[in-house]
Amino acid sequence: MTPPLRVLFVAAELTPIAKVGGLGDVIGALPKNLKSLGVDVRIVIPKYGVIDEKTYPLTLLREGVEVPFDGRVERCRIFQTPLPGSQVPVYLIDHERYLGGGSIYFEKDASSSGAEQECSRFTFFSCAVLELFAAANFWPDLLHCHDWQVGLLPTLVRIRAKDDDRVRAMRTILTINNIAYQGRYHPKLAFRLLGLRGDEHPLLAERTGKTRELNYLQQAILASDVITTVSPTYAKEILTPAYGEGLERYLAKRKDALTGILNGIDTDRFNPATDPSLPARYSVDDLSGKATDTSALQKILDLPQNPTVALLGFVGRLTDQKGTKLLPPILDALMKEDVQLTLLGTGTERFEEEARAMARRFPDRIAVRIAFDAALAQKIYAGADLFLMPSRFEPCGLAQMIAMRYGAVPIVRATGGLKDTVPPFDPHTGQGTGFIFDAYEPEALWGAVEKALALFRRDPDAWHRCQENGMRTDFSWEKSSREYLKLYEQLRGEAAPAVQ
Ligand code: ADP
Repeated sequence: MTPPLRVLFVAAELTPIAKVGGLGDVIGALPKNLKSLGVDVRIVIPKYGVIDEKTYPLTLLREGVEVPFDGRVERCRIFQTPLPGSQVPVYLIDHERYLGGGSIYFEKDASSSGAEQECSRFTFFSCAVLELFAAANFWPDLLHCHDWQVGLLPTLVRIRAKDDDRVRAMRTILTINNIAYQGRYHPKLAFRLLGLRGDEHPLLAERTGKTRELNYLQQAILASDVITTVSPTYAKEILTPAYGEGLERYLAKRKDALTGILNGIDTDRFNPATDPSLPARYSVDDLSGKATDTSALQKILDLPQNPTVALLGFVGRLTDQKGTKLLPPILDALMKEDVQLTLLGTGTERFEEEARAMARRFPDRIAVRIAFDAALAQKIYAGADLFLMPSRFEPCGLAQMIAMRYGAVPIVRATGGLKDTVPPFDPHTGQGTGFIFDAYEPEALWGAVEKALALFRRDPDAWHRCQENGMRTDFSWEKSSREYLKLYEQLRGEAAPAVQ
């Protein structure tokens, strides 16, 4: 019998222990599903000072683990805890100076370049992961690295493989959750921290941009055995200059190693039949509770409690990515219709102010809440008839899947995961779950909104069909986990690459 696959997930975030955004949700969900498929999957994250040890009690596994770093030998401790609600072991690397201080990220937008602290934190973490194998006596077949923070690991594995057979047997996978975040640092800084000259591996000579930065995500793109991203369409888009954020030419070199696998959502948590945040619960077989939720939402938002109005919702980061700048230009046309609009989100000052300005113009039609409020978000998914997600780019997107599960019909731009999860509704065949537009232009968005409103008003049966199609779609992690497993099995079967 083949022994179970051993996989180590390496990431900066893990929901619920250390969550910032969608990355944490993926790391918190996918391993649980892989475990149920028989994979010996484990996770390693930094032990940040902000982790609540009362809620997540940690057990000390090893101390005094030596990590060569920045010209010294640092000593770290390794803690362990199960991923809540599962048997998946989580290792937490503890080092007060590099991993303990501040929040999860030092930079406000959790992005990239700049802060030296960010660079030393995640470079140290990557170096410490190399020492974890022996310290925890866990030698994974596959090292599954997520995003730029651990982007140097595949290269470091290749360097270590020269004198360690067990590391040489490992395969590496990079998952790109959002290519806009890359981690770009001065090579002198990175090499000093790593104790490298820069000629230890040919890949280290690769630089990006005018300033010849060492780009952590680019390093991972070149050095990992396989690259995945979070939707099939995004996998194609990032090969183009419009979406590749400058890394398209490196991805082109690795085109054959790149695949897109859709994320899932936690279908137990996002379930209108059991959701504790909702005033009334409902299911696809009995939607009557949804009208109660609409009326309750209107009350919370100080909007008139009108049962026939079409209520449009938006929940998400108010940033350029999410396409909110397409909304003000269509506002006058939209307000001529019998609609209400609600926006929940936080983001850049400019987009927050634009949203507030819309609400000031139409106070009894538009409600804006600048906040991060998970309970209100659920009430919006449940209370809304339509869900707006006109993103400029969207690697996968979870909000549109949650909206469909709650019977809010999505209006989305045909990009990334939105294109892959929202088939357009066709009233003739009764197939499809939403409304889609192509061009990143207000006119194109307006065209889709008009079509959706026309169906909502004129053909209630077709409208319910569209809602039901969305609610019945399987958005669980099960399907994606099987695709990852298939990829893992293929990779384990492959011969070791020549060590350069
Ligand atoms: P991204 O990861 O790019 O921000 P996703 O659609 O993949 O976008 O995931 C966003 C998740 O965060 C969704 O579950 C959404 O409901 C939630 N969310 C975003 N903004 C807010 C907010 N202001 N309040 C509550 N939940 C939010």
